[in-house]
Amino acid sequence: MSHARELAFAAQVVARACALCRAVQASMVPRDSLAKADRSPVTVADFAVQAVISHALAEAFPQDGLVGEEHSEDLRADDRIRSQVVQVVRTVEPGLGETEVLAAIDRGGHPGGPTGRFWTLDPIDGTKGFLQRRQYAVALALIEDGVPVVGALGCPDLPVEQGAAAGPPGCLFTAARGTGAFMQVLDGGQTRIRTADVGDPSLASFCESVESGHSAHGRAARIAALLGVTAPPCRIDSQCKYAVVARGDASIYLRLPTRDDYQEKIWDHAAGWIVIREAGGEVTDVAGRPLDFSLGRTLRANRGVIATNGRLHEAVLAAVRQVLGDAGH
Ligand code: AMP
Ligand code: MG
Repeated sequence: MSHARELAFAAQVVARACALCRAVQASMVPRDSLAKADRSPVTVADFAVQAVISHALAEAFPQDGLVGEEHSEDLRADDRIRSQVVQVVRTVEPGLGETEVLAAIDRGGHPGGPTGRFWTLDPIDGTKGFLQRRQYAVALALIEDGVPVVGALGCPDLPVEQGAAAGPPGCLFTAARGTGAFMQVLDGGQTRIRTADVGDPSLASFCESVESGHSAHGRAARIAALLGVTAPPCRIDSQCKYAVVARGDASIYLRLPTRDDYQEKIWDHAAGWIVIREAGGEVTDVAGRPLDFSLGRTLRANRGVIATNGRLHEAVLAAVRQVLGDAGH
């Protein structure tokens, strides 16, 4: 079945959200964020983007559920941030009041699961990167019967030029099942993207999280050494890592578990998963299992994530197994 309408919707709403993030970031001060119960930061922009995209989804696809990262609980206790969120949302949806904004955020509480259709949204993936003016992404995906079929990944600060460390930023990556992956310059034209045609691991470069709490850097360095990789790791926040592998800047993305009890969240991977797969790449967990998006809000059957250009996947998994052990520990 074609997903042309869903893809067009996702691309348009994520591009709009990227513009909103840039506007908020430009006028943001440090106290415009608060700490969630797990002590991770959340900003005015995280809440505002979830409200805007959730509201647009409810109008365009009223039957579809949404698995969103944020909920309004933290916001209800903070009058200042709450009123800022409402103000920011009203710059694009002037008809909404506080009640509608909070309700839109909380429509993101869908449990996910194995059947039917739902969307998953990380309104700002890499909030720490957003706060520190590194990389971040707006990630939206449609999941049907447990499999991502449409993805839109907005990377407002990622340089447009492939492989460039600097230069004009702002890319939107889109993909729908069976139709390829594309990169669009935010406010510009679109080109088809493919992963790098690298078959010799020693010529590959790899990326990983900036945060050492999200991915084990020491083990990644050992895996890279086993593969003969000589390029230093490229550390990038958010699903921008999937994007740079999808367009061939890097060939390997390692996300190695740092704790036994952490379950990856579906909104941190679904959009990146389909973009990289449609660009010719491969994604599994550290044990080589496919990512299972059908089990609710988390990837509880998986541990860590390994994404590659495709050609290198088996070689990378073999090195991962050697360093982590067969059980992936
Ligand atoms: P990244 O920018 O790739 O490091 O990923 C950011 C995401 O990491 C956040 O959206 C969190 O959902 C997620 N995260 C938080 N704690 C952990 C953890 N211990 N291991 C892996 N990912 C985590
Ligand atoms: Mg995230």
